[in-house]
Amino acid sequence: MLKVKNLKTSYGHIHALKGINLDVEQGEIVTLIGSNGAGKTTTLMSIMGMLKSELGSIVEFEGEDITHCSPSVLVKKGLCLVPEGREVFPKLSVHDNLRLGAFTRKQKAEIKDTYEKVYELFPRLKEREKQMAGTLSGGEQQMLAIGRALMAQPRLLMLDEPSLGLAPNIVQQIFALIKQINEQGTTVLLVEQNAYQALRIADRGYIIETGYGRLSGDAKELRESDEVRRAYLGNV
Ligand code: ATP
Repeated sequence: MLKVKNLKTSYGHIHALKGINLDVEQGEIVTLIGSNGAGKTTTLMSIMGMLKSELGSIVEFEGEDITHCSPSVLVKKGLCLVPEGREVFPKLSVHDNLRLGAFTRKQKAEIKDTYEKVYELFPRLKEREKQMAGTLSGGEQQMLAIGRALMAQPRLLMLDEPSLGLAPNIVQQIFALIKQINEQGTTVLLVEQNAYQALRIADRGYIIETGYGRLSGDAKELRESDEVRRAYLGNV
């Protein structure tokens, strides 16, 4: 579904990505793991057209070259990114935040259906429909950010550190919801520092280090690998 070949992105003279390769097949959850500054966020932002990648980088989605597409074009093609830090609109209600997620869609009846699906998945958002997003808890804001992305009906949902800063029981809930979203037919590319949880729900994983792909494999294999356990799982 998604093929990334030799992805290179720089911030001025800082070469953040030095040739990342990764594939995501339809229906999978694939996780991207790495230490701080490894290039995970940069990878997602480059795929989503928010950062310009260098000559020779190739990103394909469903067989089409999307390397130079803008984010809004990519949303229409079925890709969506939930950024790190959630970035909900604090002064807008939960419902209005969700509405913004559907900005590329025109069919009112279908949008209404999607609202219902999102509220079914996140009953807590339904209860807080009229509440200002800025007054939600961290976990609820994360749910809203994911819900808002789902309003665009993505076929590939990319999530950047959805568990960041959340209490352990909320982290569990968020991972369970990501799994549920995947089971309902959305392919997921998940960036996480919480490697243990991410590898528990993922089918496959890629480990990146300072802008390079370091290792890749089945989630179970990675979970059991000594190297991964030492470096990323705190030897659990
Ligand atoms: P984290 O888990 O800490 O968010 P990450 O793996 O997502 O890390 P990136 O945010 O992609 O890493 O950063 C990769 C590299 O690019 C780092 O060395 C970082 O300092 C650098 N970088 C990121 N954003 C910028 C920027 N706006 N300007 C300059 N350098 C940047």
